[in-house]
Amino acid sequence: MLFMNHLFNQLQAIASAYLEIKIKFICWALLLVGLTFNGQAQVLLPPSEVALLRPEAVFDGQDLHAGWVVLVEGEKITAVGPASQVTQPPGARTYDLPGLTLLPGLIEGHSHLLLHPYNETSWNDQVLLESQALRVARATAHATRTLLAGFTTARDLGTEGAGYADVGLKQAISQGIIPGPRLLVATRALVATGSYGPKLSVDADVPQGAQEADGVDGIIRAVREQIGKGADLIKVYADYRWGADGSSQPTFSQDELTLIVQTARSSGRGVVAHATTPEGMRRAILAGVETIEHGDNGTPEIFALMKKRGVALCPTVAANDAISRYRGWQPGQVPLPPRLQQKHESMAAALKAGVPLAMGGDVGVFTHGDNAREMELLVRDYGLTPLQVLRQATSGNAQIFHLADRGRIRAGLLADLVAVAGDPTQDVAALRQVRLVMKGGVLYKQP
Ligand SMILES: [Zn+2]
Repeated sequence: MLFMNHLFNQLQAIASAYLEIKIKFICWALLLVGLTFNGQAQVLLPPSEVALLRPEAVFDGQDLHAGWVVLVEGEKITAVGPASQVTQPPGARTYDLPGLTLLPGLIEGHSHLLLHPYNETSWNDQVLLESQALRVARATAHATRTLLAGFTTARDLGTEGAGYADVGLKQAISQGIIPGPRLLVATRALVATGSYGPKLSVDADVPQGAQEADGVDGIIRAVREQIGKGADLIKVYADYRWGADGSSQPTFSQDELTLIVQTARSSGRGVVAHATTPEGMRRAILAGVETIEHGDNGTPEIFALMKKRGVALCPTVAANDAISRYRGWQPGQVPLPPRLQQKHESMAAALKAGVPLAMGGDVGVFTHGDNAREMELLVRDYGLTPLQVLRQATSGNAQIFHLADRGRIRAGLLADLVAVAGDPTQDVAALRQVRLVMKGGVLYKQP
């Protein structure tokens, strides 16, 4: 009897474990059915499934290979190569993708998910008048659009007055609560006192778009605080439009910038610098930042220094283009506004010096989901080839941002994959024809 009881208990335990698995499966299925993005139902791939993707060609992050296929198991890529060399495991679901090129998920290098275009609402008004709840709600929609545009990772460079909302946003995405790209977040960003905005009357101290910090103690405390709250990297404004005349000037001293980099680096994190002036760029480069954002007024000497120190430039040409348009300039109109003319000259110098380029557009200044605009402009107006910008947005950004688990299509890496119609290595416009988006083996969009 005792034995029978024991057996019965065991059987009961097995039955309830089975029931639990079944309930979990049903919940998962309900979740799949229930999820709608932009009103369009999406079919998600259960994480344990095996999928064989058969596109027209595979761009592996470096080169294009016609006739290759990719095998995905769970959240990883497990095989890639010519169709004849990749064995299809039994039970694998096959996705035939004729006419499509499969790419590594694109990596946005400079976004602000908590901002929306300045022609909708000025930056000042976004920072001062919009509630945190409104900004976060918008950001969730921005995250979805970014992912569905084929960007499975984004480096988000500052909440611009929305505190640590990017950390929560990142958690919501990684926990599967909302769809969005994998995020690297900078949280509040660091500025020298008095240098940033919004700038209103000198009589009023208004909330700022970033955290002010100065001097040894202040800087160390601010960097540590941001890291403690969840910053994956530190963003510093090495210069900004400062003072009554509104001219861009270096802000932090060399010692302060060096200390910021040392403090961040001792925690295993890098620093990126907003810099547009030659002196601001020079100090940031010497301090050891990993990327310079914008670099609008960089000179041949400064770009030579960047090249020598291995610092990448994230040129954000799309932001310059967008801001010029908001001020009334129309594409094709000559002469170019001084801002754009200067950008062309500095980009020519950067390319001549061989500075590595990160791909990032400062999206948020313009519409989220329109991230490919940076790549289109680099090809159309700045002389890069589609292949160059495609490498930058995949393997290039992955290398510069230390993301060894993505940016290429290779066995063992994350199954972050995008399929576009046509051949984006020949025509950058193909990047607008996103037909399939997979992140970590989960399909968010399929033909
Ligand atoms: Zn920015």
